[in-house]
Amino acid sequence: MMTTITRGQAHALAALVVARRPDWQAPGVIKALSDVRERGDLDQVIDAALRAARDPAAKTPAAIGFDQYWPVTPDRSGEPPRCPESGHQSYYAHNCGLCRFEHLRPTDPPPRTEVFPRPDFTRTPRPDHRSGAQSSQEDS
Ligand SMILES: [Zn+2]
Repeated sequence: MMTTITRGQAHALAALVVARRPDWQAPGVIKALSDVRERGDLDQVIDAALRAARDPAAKTPAAIGFDQYWPVTPDRSGEPPRCPESGHQSYYAHNCGLCRFEHLRPTDPPPRTEVFPRPDFTRTPRPDHRSGAQSSQEDS
């Protein structure tokens, strides 16, 4: 069971946040802390509040709820994290097909997941393969 922030702790933390950010009002900070109290344990709420307070880009106490001040929790949606490599985001990090592909050498055997027979490219194309393109040129 997660230990959420108490009212007394929220007021103490709000006082600290306002001391760091005099442009923020304590009631707004307490409201923001109340909004995020179910999101993490006490340590995570404290960290998020102080990270937001130290960030000049955070303009209001509502920023305490912004994702960038919270730890990455890959299991929040029940889905494993995606591969962080550029262009790989459609793959899970623990099973990235592009990472495996990029580490293959030309001499490596084909992946063992291949279950269908390879198409036979040695056969000659069907005789009517290009007849459509040729007939349209003749028509012009
Ligand atoms: Zn990858």
